[in-house]
Amino acid sequence: MQAANFDVVEIWQVAAARLQQQIHLTTYEQWFQNIVPLTLNENTLVLGVSDDFFADWLKDNFDDLLTAVLTNIEGRDYSYSFKSGYLPERKPEKPKGKAKSPSARRAKTVRPGNCLSRHTFDNFVVGEENRYAYAATRTAAENPGLYNPLYIYGGTGTGKTHLLQAVAHHMVERQPATCVRYITCEEFLNNYVDSLRNKNHSEFRSFVRDIDILLVDDVHMLGNKTQLQEEFFNTFNSLYNQNKQIILTSDKQPSEIKGLEARLVSRFESGVATEISIPGFETRLAILRMMQEEHLVKLSDEVLQFIANHIHSSVRRLQGALFRLVAFASAMSVADLDVEQAERLLRRLLEEETASQLVSIEAIQRVVAEHFEIRVNDLLSDKKPKNIAQPRMVAMFLCRKLTGFSYPEIGNAFGRNHATIMNAWKKVPELCAKDENMRRSLSLLERKFKP
Ligand code: ADP
Ligand code: MG
Repeated sequence: MQAANFDVVEIWQVAAARLQQQIHLTTYEQWFQNIVPLTLNENTLVLGVSDDFFADWLKDNFDDLLTAVLTNIEGRDYSYSFKSGYLPERKPEKPKGKAKSPSARRAKTVRPGNCLSRHTFDNFVVGEENRYAYAATRTAAENPGLYNPLYIYGGTGTGKTHLLQAVAHHMVERQPATCVRYITCEEFLNNYVDSLRNKNHSEFRSFVRDIDILLVDDVHMLGNKTQLQEEFFNTFNSLYNQNKQIILTSDKQPSEIKGLEARLVSRFESGVATEISIPGFETRLAILRMMQEEHLVKLSDEVLQFIANHIHSSVRRLQGALFRLVAFASAMSVADLDVEQAERLLRRLLEEETASQLVSIEAIQRVVAEHFEIRVNDLLSDKKPKNIAQPRMVAMFLCRKLTGFSYPEIGNAFGRNHATIMNAWKKVPELCAKDENMRRSLSLLERKFKP
């Protein structure tokens, strides 16, 4: 049955009204206000947005929310797709005709149109797993050139993009004369290819080189792209030689990016590299509490704890879960969503979490023992020498980090009490800070368990 009288504009109006009830006005204005409803294909709304970057952002960050607000509109559920090429003014544009004024330069640089406004240092919740990355990024923003390049790596949804964009905001606020450019590696590729096609290569070069700070997101995308690597290498050198700050993010260490030329690996490794991973329960809860402030609908702390407890694979998924519940509560006018309802609504997400969580305590004990060339029985023993005590702590640390088990549960598996596990959780990062080998071992081990 077709909803004959309900056209794309009306559907979008309902959805937009729901959105406004759920997110802060600033978020709405930044991300949704300029969306143009175009056509309705079956049950899919085609929405016009400025560019692919913008569309990706919406998908990455607001998919659950959009899906929820398009649910049950006059009894029908809709899906959506984006079409780029609307609102071209969001892209940095060349001033036409006139010479560049300083303010034009600045407008072109930032008012970081391509950075989400809430991706600031202030909005970044710091915990054990992202402390170094946060500190290093702040230092790089406050003392450009000191850590050069700064290379931040870690799994998806751990806050890399957030930190990178925080640098852009920081500069605009504190040092507006500094010209900072945030660009994803994919945009770098697209702009580069376009510049070759349109024969305005020098403009592209100026776009990424006549600046003070270059922030490139997701450089693992460079892998196997020879010509792009050549261009990137030259860009890198040009900035580096002028002591201009470069900050890069990636899902891997430089040496692990497949098809990345040795000279880029060594450039990327020549500065400071810092790993970032998904934070523990307390930090996840703090993130949820902070994110909730963006929404008008409030969830109980019990529900927030439920989410923080069950979603440990990515901060993005944490956010997705929150959006889904908030959207539901608001669309259905549910005042006090309880944990049971939350569990039902999040079933799919929770199932995916369990599927990604197949690491067992036994597997960790076995792999850690193998790595350090000791026996599992040694790990479980009371032996005190360093070559056994340290691997034991590493194994405890990894169990806490990679499984959903609590301190007492992990303690049981090692024949210890929960305080011993808590101590390992605290000590291992300290050991890593002091000992390069330990840091290497830990990240190597961790990657063995990541799918
Ligand atoms: P990545 O680039 O590593 O895949 P993002 O930076 O896109 O991850 O983070 C995913 C989402 O989680 C973003 O909305 C981001 O704001 C949020 N986020 C991640 N880490 C934190 C944190 N420590 N504090 C607050 N928000 C965070
Ligand atoms: Mg990212």
